[in-house]
Amino acid sequence: MTAGGLIAKPAEPLPCKVLLVCPRFHGQSFWNFTAACEVFGAGIPAPPLGLITVAAMLPPNWECRLVNRNTEELAAADIDWADMVMTGGMLPQRPDTLTIIELIQARGKRVVVGGPDATSSPAAYELADFRVLGEAEGIIGEFIAAWNLGVRQGTFTAEKFTIDVTKTPIPRYDLLKRGQYLYYGVQFARGCPFTCEFCDIIELYGRVPRVKTVEQILAELDTLYRVGYRGYVDVVDDNFIGNKKAVKQLLPHLIAWQQERGYPFKFGTEASINLADDDALLALMRDANFVSVFVGIESPDTETLVSAQKKQNTRRSLADSVHKIYRAGMFVHAGFIVGFDSEKQGTAEAMIECVEATSVPVCMVGLLYALPNTQLERRLEREGRLFSPSYTSEMFKLGGGDQCVLGLNFRTARPRGEILLDLKQILQQVYNPDAFFDRARKVARMLDRPKLDKRWSTEMAQRIFDVQHVDLVAAGRICWRVFRRQPRLLRHFLRALLETARKNPRALDCVFTMTLMYFHLGTFAAHVASVLERRLAMLPAEELSARSPSIGVREAELAVAE
Ligand code: SF4
Repeated sequence: MTAGGLIAKPAEPLPCKVLLVCPRFHGQSFWNFTAACEVFGAGIPAPPLGLITVAAMLPPNWECRLVNRNTEELAAADIDWADMVMTGGMLPQRPDTLTIIELIQARGKRVVVGGPDATSSPAAYELADFRVLGEAEGIIGEFIAAWNLGVRQGTFTAEKFTIDVTKTPIPRYDLLKRGQYLYYGVQFARGCPFTCEFCDIIELYGRVPRVKTVEQILAELDTLYRVGYRGYVDVVDDNFIGNKKAVKQLLPHLIAWQQERGYPFKFGTEASINLADDDALLALMRDANFVSVFVGIESPDTETLVSAQKKQNTRRSLADSVHKIYRAGMFVHAGFIVGFDSEKQGTAEAMIECVEATSVPVCMVGLLYALPNTQLERRLEREGRLFSPSYTSEMFKLGGGDQCVLGLNFRTARPRGEILLDLKQILQQVYNPDAFFDRARKVARMLDRPKLDKRWSTEMAQRIFDVQHVDLVAAGRICWRVFRRQPRLLRHFLRALLETARKNPRALDCVFTMTLMYFHLGTFAAHVASVLERRLAMLPAEELSARSPSIGVREAELAVAE
């Protein structure tokens, strides 16, 4: 069944109890910030924004409960309470989503699967009673109507890229248990105008960014503010500046909203590097209190960027672009990828040099992965180089939770051993504490944080106290962890802190944030290095590079893929 259009709620839907279950993320991941969660007593960084947005689309007489398997157990009593269970998520959540389907069906209940992975790989979820594919707004009305008519299985597919997100309701933040999360998220736009070959965002959401209205975003922030939340808010867009005109219309309102409330929120987001080309946009983001932005740098090699269709990263100095964003008060996290066909020998050295030149402390360096339903996957399939999905299942068994470990699900142009060794070398170098804190100190020197214009009143003083109290508590906990749990970082931490206090005190909170991230990333880099060792040990002789240490060739890793 296919339907486009907006939510069409039936006139008199029958009451229904819906259990929303967020599947567990598999294994260790760059994104799970385990140590940061520990410091703040949270279970997982971010709430399941997709599920709570779907919950808001359901009829008012449908009762909803949410269980997040990353933070709590799914009890039999929860399943027995429900008439229907909704679940689904991203690729690293697939193993647990399949477990959830079994658990639910074993108790005689119907399970509905949706979300990006089910949309990209519906065949992986054929055991689910319902598959609701694509953007939920476009099909949920039809699904609800079918359920009311007694339909108990089927596949519902939304028409692509037609959803009017200005009609998307405010997510049901009330379903979240606050203490479970490090921060909250909002979404402004879906889609991205670029054409990166490896990207599934443009396949899922299209190349014409669709944006919410100013009123919608402010209403979402009002909701978070009213429930008492203060602190970091992730604007989860895959490219926040995909529609610059709309962003420039939003930001002045966001600035005014923040000023009136004493800047209760700090924002972070993802954006393409051409953000650095737009001074007006940088200034607006700075004034709205954007503190961080994730940028996909991917590779320092122009030929590789061109062949990956990431031309927006070419014809520029990557270091100058990143430094310009620092000077606008935002620190940059960056993504790097190894495993492209056009890479040459010396890739590791070039990438390490690029990380140093850009001074990006928090780098997500991973292996190229041909995600389902991407241009890259289609090309590799045409070239007869794509491995079967069982390859990913095997990589999951190695403890992989993201492309740092899962990647290279295809026959590589360079010897695989060489690529795996490159990644290991990069991670060991960039997450060496000396190198990491050296970059952190450079960023803290460059970061030009604004003096925020907080309009003064007695009530405002209390609000500002609330915000700064949150920051002080966070700083205290980070100090405690360094002193008690990670004394080997003490020298680096104190040096960064003292230097920043002297040279650029407004950037002090950035030192705390980067230290918090290093708690996770130092450990994570060591974990990835150990998995890469195991992958290297599984390679057949012809896939080992001249650089590989002599490794006993065991079960061929590639045989897994056939
Ligand atoms: S810029 Fe980012 S979101 Fe846009 S196509 Fe490239 S990888 Fe995808």
